[in-house]
Amino acid sequence: MVDRLVNSEANARRISMVENCFGSSGQPLAEPGRVLVGEGVLTKMCRKKPKARQFFLFNDILVYGNIVINKKKYNKQHIIPLEEVKLESLEDDASYQNGWLIRTASKSFAVYAATATEKQEWMAHINKCIDDLLRKSGKKAVEVHAAVWVPDGEASVCMHCKETQFTLINRRHHCRKCGAVVCGPCSNKRFVLPNQSSKPLRVCTHCYDLLSSGTQETSRRYDSSPDDNSDDEDEKSKNNSHDEPKFYGDNL
Ligand SMILES: [Zn+2]
Ligand SMILES: [Zn+2]
Repeated sequence: MVDRLVNSEANARRISMVENCFGSSGQPLAEPGRVLVGEGVLTKMCRKKPKARQFFLFNDILVYGNIVINKKKYNKQHIIPLEEVKLESLEDDASYQNGWLIRTASKSFAVYAATATEKQEWMAHINKCIDDLLRKSGKKAVEVHAAVWVPDGEASVCMHCKETQFTLINRRHHCRKCGAVVCGPCSNKRFVLPNQSSKPLRVCTHCYDLLSSGTQETSRRYDSSPDDNSDDEDEKSKNNSHDEPKFYGDNL
C-alpha cells in the first residue's frame, strides 16, 4: 500500500533524491503525506518530435523533466496536479505504440512507454492515484481538458483551408481550442479560454465561430503541448539502453 510508505524513511530518501536531481531548477517536493509512487522514462510527444522525459508519479502530482544526465540530473521541471488529470489510451499505429494521453484543463499531451506492459503499469498506477485522491477530497473529475496539439510535422499544409503551404514565411500556428495546425489567416481570431489563460488566445476561424455561437465541440486527440516549444535544445543525453519504470510499494 502507498499509505504504508507515507512516513517511511525510504520514501523520504527517494523524494530527496528527486529534489537533488532537479537541483535549483526544481521546486521542493517533500510534503507531509506525499509519496513517490513510481518513476521512469517515457517518450513525450513535443511540438517538433517525440522526446525522452523522466517522469515521477507521486500520490498527488505528476512531475516530469528533461534528462540532462540519465538518473543524475534533470531540468525543466513540470508539475501536474493529479486531481486535474484524465488519461486516455491511444491505439497503436505504425509509428507510435504503447501511448496514452495525459489530459488536464490547461495542457494535454501524449506519452509513450517502451512496452505494452509498462503502458499498462503506468496507466494503472496513475489512475489509482487519481481515484484515491478524488475519493479522499470528494471532488469530481475535471471535465474540460485542453486540446492536444497536432505535431508540426503532421501538417505540411493548413489543416483548415488545406491550401496554405507552410514555409519559413508562412509559419504554422496552433489553434488553442482544437490543437489543429493552421495558417495565419485561418487563425487571425482570439478567444478567451478561461482554463488556459485569462488573455484571449489564438483560435482557428472554425473554433472561433463555434465558441462565439456558444456551441461546444469535442477536441482532437493529437499530440504535443503549447509550452514545449522551448525544450528543443537539450537532447544531449542519448541513452538507448532501456530502463524499466520502478513502482514502489505496489498499490494495485
Ligand atoms: Zn489556412
Ligand atoms: Zn480550432
